[in-house]
Amino acid sequence: MQGIYLDNNATTRVDPVVLDTMLPYFSDLYGNPSSIHSFGFEVGKAMVNARRQVQSLLGAEYDSEIIFTSCGSESDNTAIRSALEAMPDRREIITSCVEHPAILELCDYLESQQGYTVHRLNVDEKGRIDLDQYQQLLSDRVAIVSIMWANNETGTIFPIEQMASMAKPFGCVFHTDAVQAVGKVPIKLAGSDIDMLSMSGHKIHAPKGIGVLYVRRGARYRPWLRGGHQERGRRAGTENTTSIIGLGKAAELAELHVDTMNTKIKALRDKLQAGILDQISHCFVTGDPEHRTANTLNIAFEYIEGEAILLMLNQFGIAASSGSACTSGSLEPSHVMRAMKIPQTAAHGSIRFSLSRYTREKDIDKVLEVIPGIIERLRSISPYWQQLQKGHVEGFTPAFG
Ligand code: PLP
Repeated sequence: MQGIYLDNNATTRVDPVVLDTMLPYFSDLYGNPSSIHSFGFEVGKAMVNARRQVQSLLGAEYDSEIIFTSCGSESDNTAIRSALEAMPDRREIITSCVEHPAILELCDYLESQQGYTVHRLNVDEKGRIDLDQYQQLLSDRVAIVSIMWANNETGTIFPIEQMASMAKPFGCVFHTDAVQAVGKVPIKLAGSDIDMLSMSGHKIHAPKGIGVLYVRRGARYRPWLRGGHQERGRRAGTENTTSIIGLGKAAELAELHVDTMNTKIKALRDKLQAGILDQISHCFVTGDPEHRTANTLNIAFEYIEGEAILLMLNQFGIAASSGSACTSGSLEPSHVMRAMKIPQTAAHGSIRFSLSRYTREKDIDKVLEVIPGIIERLRSISPYWQQLQKGHVEGFTPAFG
């Protein structure tokens, strides 16, 4: 597809090197890694390599701490279910109100259908977690704390290592959904107090349908998928060998590019941000500008609808997102915008631009060229904007309010 792709938090393109690495495993190298013959051994060797590549990206102490799963959502679900099963006497879960639905929907289900108590930590207007509230909720009744490392909508980074250390004295499992952090922030799990971590291949230029659950050696763990003895009995099912091998290569490349992400890509993101703020009135950055993944810019344009902005950007071949990809289609502001108490008049107009190492300066220049006109056109047909211009905002209810 041609166009300018700035929706990399939704998914990324498969790196051509990753694809090349995978291709032989679709044809000649089709053995089952559990088999005792050369066909199996060849694939088994490549999987050992892939596991080490992921281990290295995550800074894990042992490669056996890496379990391949089908996606980030599976890893998240497995982590929580594992902790609850391993510690049946503990009936409480701590999470945050800005997690991905892979955590929030499961927690809602566990609360409403299975009687668990779920504590959802609040965030402030910049999306920062309330650590005092967290400290007060920690107790030996808590089975698992699950907090995302970085938020998918705003890029806000949470103090995960600190939060893991705070949880440690209470003996609960500390899990982090690092799907949006891996490859963007340096991660070193060895020596940290993090027990489990989820990541997903398709956010780091590997294919869709492959994920990882890191489980620290010695951490309490119960498998969710039972059956064969794959993944040392921790996740049954014949391995998705091609994708695992692709993920390994993607992990190796991601590790090489973490610095690029925090220099070159960050500079492009900052150029986009400055260009928009300079040219357009009544818009602001959401999330924590000081602690944000380098590729993410979430910006709220007041008095217009995000969906309309997206459609107009699409006419120029520019792909971005409003809310998270999983919730777009709904006209309600996302749960993340609501949690930060972004006013209705701005929350509806929030747009997420997410860059990758494939983003070029000319892509950013193109967005900066077209976006002022798009916003002006949409505001010219926004009743609320019209009222605002006339100074008649009091008592006016916007259509989307
Ligand atoms: N967690 C976060 C923070 C995400 O952004 C996503 C996907 O957008 C997921 C979990 C789910 O990952 P997957 O699509 O691999 O199931």
